[in-house]
Amino acid sequence: MKIIAVGRNYVAHANELHNPVPTSPVIFLKPDTALLKNNGDFYIPEFSNEIHYEVEVVLRICKEGRHVSEKFAPSYYDQIGLGIDFTARDIQQKHKEKGLPWELAKAFDHSAAVSAMEAKENFGDLYQMDFSLLKNQQMVQQGNTRDLIFSFEKVISFVSQYITLRKGDYIFTGTPAGVGPVAMGDHLEGFIGEKKLLDFYIR
Ligand code: MG
Repeated sequence: MKIIAVGRNYVAHANELHNPVPTSPVIFLKPDTALLKNNGDFYIPEFSNEIHYEVEVVLRICKEGRHVSEKFAPSYYDQIGLGIDFTARDIQQKHKEKGLPWELAKAFDHSAAVSAMEAKENFGDLYQMDFSLLKNQQMVQQGNTRDLIFSFEKVISFVSQYITLRKGDYIFTGTPAGVGPVAMGDHLEGFIGEKKLLDFYIR
């Protein structure tokens, strides 16, 4: 399986990092070794002094897809959960300045925390989902999927023109504003609506 992620899919987040609002989806990948499941602890890696959380709604792909049209995209994902796209912001900033790829900042081990996934039917209107992240009981990120620049269907259709989607792949759909650093001992809790899906510690 692979993890496909969308950068800059909420206007307020693109603005906070002083990035232009994209006109087509910004896509990057994380390998399967990036997965962090079951609310396991996240260990801050030695190579970064600035690991940021980015809370994101995550889709689970349920069948193989190539050149999927937006119209048929809903049948390609069956489950939804929440994830943290951990980002080594210091490394990313250096690479952006030099025009280099982001992999070392985005694809490192355990950089993709993923909650348990639930049937998408459990979430009501998928474009009215509130989601949020608490750090040490303080709300640090709050988003609603109505504010997505590129819909889930648009992302699936776009990516599948280039990369075959396979059953079990995850799509991180982008983070709202409020990204920030984690430190040893921090407690992260992530919610979709009232449902707590993420609950783990930074070590
Ligand atoms: Mg992200």
